[in-house]
Amino acid sequence: MRKLVFIIVDGLGDSPIELLNQKTPLDYAYTPNISALLSNSAFFYPSVLGKLAPESDLGVLANLGYDPYKFSTGRGWFECLGLGLSPNEGDLSLRVNFGEVTNGKINTVRVNMRPEEIKQLETEINENVKLSVPFLFKAGVSYRGGLVISGETKKLSHFISNNQPGYDVKFYSKRNKIGIASKTSSDRVVRVRALRKGAAYTARLANEFVAKASAIVKKSEVYSKRKLSGLPVPNFVFCRDGAVYDPSLPSLEETYGRKWAAIVGMPLEIGIARSAGMKVLNVEELADAEADLRLKAEVLKSAFKSFDAIYMHIKHTDAVSHLGKYTEKYHIIELIDKILVAEVRNLMDKEAGDTMVLSADHCTSSLLKRHTNDRIPVLLVNKEFGINHKFSEEECRKHAKRNVDKATEIMPFVFGMH
Ligand SMILES: [Zn+2]
Repeated sequence: MRKLVFIIVDGLGDSPIELLNQKTPLDYAYTPNISALLSNSAFFYPSVLGKLAPESDLGVLANLGYDPYKFSTGRGWFECLGLGLSPNEGDLSLRVNFGEVTNGKINTVRVNMRPEEIKQLETEINENVKLSVPFLFKAGVSYRGGLVISGETKKLSHFISNNQPGYDVKFYSKRNKIGIASKTSSDRVVRVRALRKGAAYTARLANEFVAKASAIVKKSEVYSKRKLSGLPVPNFVFCRDGAVYDPSLPSLEETYGRKWAAIVGMPLEIGIARSAGMKVLNVEELADAEADLRLKAEVLKSAFKSFDAIYMHIKHTDAVSHLGKYTEKYHIIELIDKILVAEVRNLMDKEAGDTMVLSADHCTSSLLKRHTNDRIPVLLVNKEFGINHKFSEEECRKHAKRNVDKATEIMPFVFGMH
């Protein structure tokens, strides 16, 4: 193999939808650029976490060849790192969402805000919330943020629950912690709980931050202006996936050689790429899917010569699935084909052994509006292969190579090719 472009389409897989003739959005989408590559393609249909429905961090880790059970220490670490915070081992890193709650009932866990609005909340929280230990909050994209609470004065624990419904945590060793989508989800506000002895102080600290930050947000101008305009208002802070250990990923360059770059705009993916030792190319995550794809294709074009392996991430497919917008999902998949895959086709020299992988971090069901444990559709383009079926979940189920049964096996397979 010469060069590799590895594209992760967030939540690409889905379930059959009646109004799409019982097809999934991928199966329904018209993807002529992918079709033109099929004479040099193979399919995989691996599982990400077996029976569990993974969060994105675990799906990305698995795709990059890191076993989530072995390496994940909690999503909060990557989120905070990707936001430019610098957690140390022992600090508590949390992923934060701004939501709207009325009388203890959650209206939404995602209040989409403009960049200047969420930045304003960052300033007010950092200036006005007082905890007994130092902390730093950083705003992310639209409703997201990251929080690092210093563990310098008192030992903090990652054995705490989330206060955002829909997401659970599981522990596999003292260090390893993974986040999964829960099957049931309540609409009532809950507190962060200690899940093991020794975690009570950390849970109290997290709850104290939630209460104080939520109160500050309610007093902010962002809140009052949005209320006046009849927009959803941020009045509650959700925290999840607290991490206290550095996942210490071995770098991809160490494992597979090559010069790696990442074209990613979301903090989580930036954090993972940094942890994996990739050069993170500067690209802003754009709210408009078409503009976002054009920008990322442009960055790919200028970076293609300088790097051997490029990891890209497209968020929009997952975002629309969580809202149940399956029509938009297949439209975005068509745009990925039209803009990004077309650009890869232009750039890659198949005869020389250039390779493209189009994969997913997990499936997101547009009907259930959450991640599922379904197998992910994966397209591998390399001159060694050829297939005669549309790239779809249905055809992956029938024609995928059986020797890649888990997502963690994709990368070793790709680098094991001649
Ligand atoms: Zn995802």
